[in-house]
Amino acid sequence: MIRASVAIVGGGVSGVFTAHYLVELGLRDIVVIEKNYLGSGSTFRCATGIRASFTSREHVELMKYSVDEWLRLSNIYGFNYLRGGYVWLLSNEEELERFKQYVSFQNKHGIPTRIIDPPTIKELVPPIREEEVYAGVHDPLAGKADPFKAVLNTAYRLMEKGVRFYTRTRALRLLVSRDKVYGIETNRGVVVADNIVLATGYGTKELLKTINIKIPLENIPHHALITEAFKEAFKPLLVDWATASYIVQTFYGGFLMGTDIPEKPDTPLINRLRFLYKITRVWTRYFPWLSNVNILRYWTGYYVNTPDHHPILGPIEEYENLYIAAGFSGHGFMIAPATGTAIAHWIIDGKPYPEIAGNLKLERYRKGRLVKELAVFG
Ligand SMILES: Cc1cc2nc3c(=O)[nH]c(=O)nc-3n(C[C@H](O)[C@H](O)[C@H](O)COP(=O)(O)OP(=O)(O)OC[C@H]3O[C@@H](n4cnc5c(N)ncnc54)[C@H](O)[C@@H]3O)c2cc1C
Repeated sequence: MIRASVAIVGGGVSGVFTAHYLVELGLRDIVVIEKNYLGSGSTFRCATGIRASFTSREHVELMKYSVDEWLRLSNIYGFNYLRGGYVWLLSNEEELERFKQYVSFQNKHGIPTRIIDPPTIKELVPPIREEEVYAGVHDPLAGKADPFKAVLNTAYRLMEKGVRFYTRTRALRLLVSRDKVYGIETNRGVVVADNIVLATGYGTKELLKTINIKIPLENIPHHALITEAFKEAFKPLLVDWATASYIVQTFYGGFLMGTDIPEKPDTPLINRLRFLYKITRVWTRYFPWLSNVNILRYWTGYYVNTPDHHPILGPIEEYENLYIAAGFSGHGFMIAPATGTAIAHWIIDGKPYPEIAGNLKLERYRKGRLVKELAVFG
C-alpha cells in the first residue's frame, strides 16, 4: 500500500503543475499516478498555444495569471516559452464587428489586444498573402510553450524533491468511508491519501462514476498534423476564425496545424481525409509555399468539453477532500499554472487562489450558474 498526503491521479500538465505548486507551498508527501506515461493524454497532443484573450472574467483572470506564471516556470524548469503573440485572421465585416466587442472587453480587463489591418498583419507574419486577409486581431501577450519539456523537466525536478511518480498505474476506483474519499484502488495496489486530486481528463467521468457522482464531460476528437522543420518563418500562432483553424510553428521548426471537422464516429479514415483536405486548403491559401512542404505526422487528440466551455475545478460538495481539475474544453495547457495554483491553495489553505477559480466548481451546474465564453474555437 502507498500512503501520501496528496495523491494526484493523472500525469498531464494539470497533474504535474498541481504537484509543482504543492511543493512550492511546502508539501512534499505527494504521489502522482498515471495510467500510461507522463503527458500521454491530451497534453503531448496539444498545439502549444497560450493566451489570455478570452471573453469571460473567469478565463481572462485565470489566463492572465497563467501567462505570468508560464514565464516564471519556464525560467525555473528551463523549457521553451515565447510570447510571440496570437493573430486572429478575420474575413469579413461581421467578424470584425464581433471582435471589436471582444477587444473592448479584453482591454477593460488589462489584455492589450487590438484590431490590426492587413499591412500590420504582414509585418507580424511576413510570409502571409496579405490580400487574403480582411482584418485581424493581435494579442501580443499570447504565445507558446514546449509541452514535452514543460511536463518532463518539471516532473524530473519534482522527483528530486521527493514527489513520487507511478506511471503505468491505472486508478480503477475511488475508495470511500462515510464523507471522505480515503484512497484509490489501482491495478498495482491501493493508494491511501488525505487529499485526492483527479486531473484525469475524460477519465474523471469514469472515476467519479465509481462513487456515483455525475460530471458533465464530453470527449471531442480533434485532429492535428505537423510538417517537416524549417527555420523560423513567423512567431505568432495564427487563427483563421471563419474555419476554426490554427497554425503555429513549434520550437522544433515544424508547422503544427489543426481544425474542426464534423465527426462521424464510424468512419475514422474519412474523418482523417476530411481533416487533411480542409486544413491544407485553409493554410495554403494564406501560404501557397506550404503546398511543397511534407507532412511528417498526423494525430487525433481530445478536447474534454463542459457545457459552458470552462473547466471544472476544486472540491466537490459530497467529499471535501476530493478535488477535480478537468473539462478544460481545449484550453487546459494554457491554464495549467492557474489550475495547479488553485488546487494547491484549496488543499493547503482551504480556499482557492486566484479566488475567481471558486466560480468553477462542479456545483455551478447543479445551481445553474454557468459561465459564458464566446472566444473559443473548436
Ligand atoms: C489537437 C489539440 C490541440 C490543443 N491545443 C491546445 C492549445 O493550443 N492550448 C491549450 O491550452 N490547450 C490545447 N489543447 C487542450 C489541452 O491539450 C488539454 O486541455 C490539456 O492537455 C489537459 O491537460 P490535463 O493534464 O488536464 O489532461 P491530460 O493531458 O489528458 O492528462 C490526463 C492524464 O490522466 C491520465 N489518466 C486518465 N485516467 C486515468 C486513470 N484512471 N488512472 C491513471 N491515470 C489516468 C491520462 O493517461 C492522462 O495522461 C489541445 C488539445 C488537442 C487535442
